[in-house]
Amino acid sequence: MFDLSLDKLSNEEVKLNIIRLRKVERECEVELLFHLIELEKRDLHLAWGYSSLFMYLVNSLGYAEASASRRVRISRLIGKYPEIATMLRSGNTNLSCLSLISKVLEVDSDKGSKLLSEIVDKTCREVEELVSAYRPEVPRAKEYIKPIKVARVPKDKVKELEFPTNSFCNLQESLKVPEPVLKTLQAEIRYEVRCSLSKDIKEKLGKAQNLMVHKLKGDMALENVFGELIDCYLAKYSKDKKVRKVNRVQKGLMNEDELAVKRKAIPSQVKREVYARDNFCCSYRSVDGVKCGKESNLELDHITPVAHGGDNSVANLRVVCREHNQFLAREVFGREFVRTKIQV
Ligand SMILES: [Zn+2]
Repeated sequence: MFDLSLDKLSNEEVKLNIIRLRKVERECEVELLFHLIELEKRDLHLAWGYSSLFMYLVNSLGYAEASASRRVRISRLIGKYPEIATMLRSGNTNLSCLSLISKVLEVDSDKGSKLLSEIVDKTCREVEELVSAYRPEVPRAKEYIKPIKVARVPKDKVKELEFPTNSFCNLQESLKVPEPVLKTLQAEIRYEVRCSLSKDIKEKLGKAQNLMVHKLKGDMALENVFGELIDCYLAKYSKDKKVRKVNRVQKGLMNEDELAVKRKAIPSQVKREVYARDNFCCSYRSVDGVKCGKESNLELDHITPVAHGGDNSVANLRVVCREHNQFLAREVFGREFVRTKIQV
């Protein structure tokens, strides 16, 4: 493709070649991002044996984790901000700078568009300073949970629900809204929660958020994140079996197939055999033979679905990750059917 006897080139030719190649590199980068959008739209990464676009970029295309993460994030933002493609092509910015402002772009379109226009021709360091202006420092907050925006509720009842607190114990206490009041008001009350987090907890929260991006379909509002965390905890530790079950179903920890399995009670021995046979990892293989191999969020999948007469035998069960379980269900039952089942 290239003439490798570079030593015969003049200095000017070397310079012109570098400029040309950089331009081609930018074009390719943008084209690749558009292809990633298409890939994800068609679930091709799943068909090819990868549980996420990120895993495909790392394990198949050989990107470093940080580079892969930037490409996933930016490809998902191009639909919302088409100007990103133009900026990347012209060299006004790069993926690293865009990545620094991606959180603002994700949550606030107005601020995002403004910020995009401000980062033109800025270095990463300059962009970091710009972003910090969008994250004004706030004084350390006093902890509390208090009701807000109480629509159509008489003032005297609102007063009953105010309980400013400043310690963790009180914070828990404050969740105990008087039962009669709760019955009449709960549909109309929201709560404002404020607390500060240690660096350690903040990092753990970040890790948990990364794990639930797919489940929350990218809607990473803190309310959704905390809801997910609390439901998972209740699903595992609630002493009330009903609460445990409802939360497992609602949060997708138990899907329709698992429910069917529950009803028909797959013998533990069968489960053990299937997990052992599949090495406790996702057994999905693409037509090219790429095995997913994911070791978390594993589920049992009926090769011939129960709805199609499949049974609970070892031969008819396989271990797959949640992403591939849903992908396989979409292949069999159709995208719309699976979407409604997941939402139920
Ligand atoms: Zn998988």
